[in-house]
Amino acid sequence: MSDNTSGNEASVKKNFIHQIIEEEIVDGKNEGRVHTRFPPEPNGYLHIGHAKSICLNFGTAQKYNGITNLRFDDTNPSKEETEYVESIKEDVRWLGFDWGDREYFASDYFNKLFDFAVKLIENSKAYVDDQDADTISSQKGTPTRPGEESPFRNRTPEENLDLFMRMKAGEFEEGDHVLRAKIDMASPNMHMRDPIIYRIMKAHHHRTGDKWCIYPMYDFAHGQSDYWEGITHSICTLEFEVHRPLYDWFVDQLMEAEYRPRQIEFARLNLTYTVMSKRKLLELVKDNYVKGWDDPRMPTISGLRRRGYTPESIRNFAEKIGVTKVDGVIDVALLEHSVREDLNKKAQRVMGVLNPLKVVITNYPEGQVEQLQAVNNPEDPSAGKRDVPFSKEIYIERDDFMEDPPRKFFRLAPGREVRLRYAYFLTCNDVIKDENGEVTELRCTYDPATKGGNAPDGRKVKATLHWVSASENVEAEVRLYDRLFNDEEPDGHKDTDFKEFLNPDSLKVLPTCYIEPFVKDAKALDSFQFERLGYFNVDPDSATDKLVFNRTAQLRDNWAKQQKK
Ligand code: ATP
Ligand code: MG
Repeated sequence: MSDNTSGNEASVKKNFIHQIIEEEIVDGKNEGRVHTRFPPEPNGYLHIGHAKSICLNFGTAQKYNGITNLRFDDTNPSKEETEYVESIKEDVRWLGFDWGDREYFASDYFNKLFDFAVKLIENSKAYVDDQDADTISSQKGTPTRPGEESPFRNRTPEENLDLFMRMKAGEFEEGDHVLRAKIDMASPNMHMRDPIIYRIMKAHHHRTGDKWCIYPMYDFAHGQSDYWEGITHSICTLEFEVHRPLYDWFVDQLMEAEYRPRQIEFARLNLTYTVMSKRKLLELVKDNYVKGWDDPRMPTISGLRRRGYTPESIRNFAEKIGVTKVDGVIDVALLEHSVREDLNKKAQRVMGVLNPLKVVITNYPEGQVEQLQAVNNPEDPSAGKRDVPFSKEIYIERDDFMEDPPRKFFRLAPGREVRLRYAYFLTCNDVIKDENGEVTELRCTYDPATKGGNAPDGRKVKATLHWVSASENVEAEVRLYDRLFNDEEPDGHKDTDFKEFLNPDSLKVLPTCYIEPFVKDAKALDSFQFERLGYFNVDPDSATDKLVFNRTAQLRDNWAKQQKK
């Protein structure tokens, strides 16, 4: 698999949608124009599944010198909020895409959609049904049995128009009437069996306020919005495949130009250990299972951003998973691999100790601080070097010491010599414990002849430890994350609610960690590799007197390991 996503350029591999487009270009369809749209419903924050759709829609347009509209599908006033509109724009922009001045709302078309509904009524292609929702649905039939026609199906256009106008004027209550397209109650496609196109909803709309008390259904708004915007390719997920005849039927009824937007379906993204539906994510937020939409454990774009994911890593992920027509589940390890791969190239290396154990170097001069040189990024020589302060007292990782080590433990133990990264060889002489027998401090000596980490006499050590000066450091809180769910398919169990699979250990807070002084001016979202520990970024919760880091990913790459097998 080639990894050819660089910067913000169109570098999407050719997929079946691109093949369709290239054939159309050869045929001269739409004068070669490619115009896509990304149509989120503003009823929640965007997630990684939406990122796939964003990369596909914007990436495809870029590849064929086209353009992409951002259109909010705000046909359902009861669930939509302005906060979501703002977050969606921020997330699309952050991913690196630009919709120019083409920001639209389905609600921009409420007047036109209403006029179109009137035209359908006048052409005997729509009627007002007085039956309630349950009755209408009981008449739908089954895929093998035709539906039953409504007793109101053959009202005259005049009567329908009068009722529809009165629906609009607010004369009726919710559920009293609906407007239905008059298509075919015997169609093998259930969506063609006189679908509801307008319903009464006495709800305040985030943009049109109280102007309307009837609202169009999504199916009645989407294709026409595409048409009016000049969209050439309406790319959507597979569940809309069965809606396509209806999509085409509505556009045909407009009877305007020759041009038609073309709906093309692709398989939505599913990820292991992840729930992806906005409704379920909203539940996690509202009921405080997580700290918000941007909780670093959430699969939302804002959560991934806060966790330390880069736009490039998400775009590369979208590229790697490809676009198909077959539903499947992607291993979340591939997403984690993508951020590692990107940060490995970019992240500044520093040393940080998460579970500190104090080491006193008895033969190091009291009060002395010396600067040692460390490599900023071995993957990027242009990143240069930095100074790391070394002193008589340092911290090492508690895990890197064992008083009574098993055979395969090569790190520090009594009487043993190890290397301190970028510094010296260090030998442990004494172990200090508290009254409970817990190790509180080590007394060690260093070999001044091993500066830089090599012994002039050629003697070797089996381990290199990271460390931080106990006097020259930045204290920080570190938040370690694990997967939010401990089941591969948390919403795939018929009899068990997905929340039963929440991982109780998905967040672990380490209140007192020590990081080398280099990070002291780090800003929110800056990423680092803590040597040997993983990638970490600065959480926006950081206060001036205390940095907070999130662990973006561990260094161990399960995905890369699997691929090598
Ligand atoms: P959810 O089921 O999470 O609520 P949705 O499909 O209702 O998602 P929309 O806001 O309607 O969310 O989606 C906007 C666009 O993103 C649509 O074109 C939709 O097909 C696409 N999309 C949503 N979820 C995914 C996914 N998991 N993978 C790929 N595309 C997706
Ligand atoms: Mg939706």
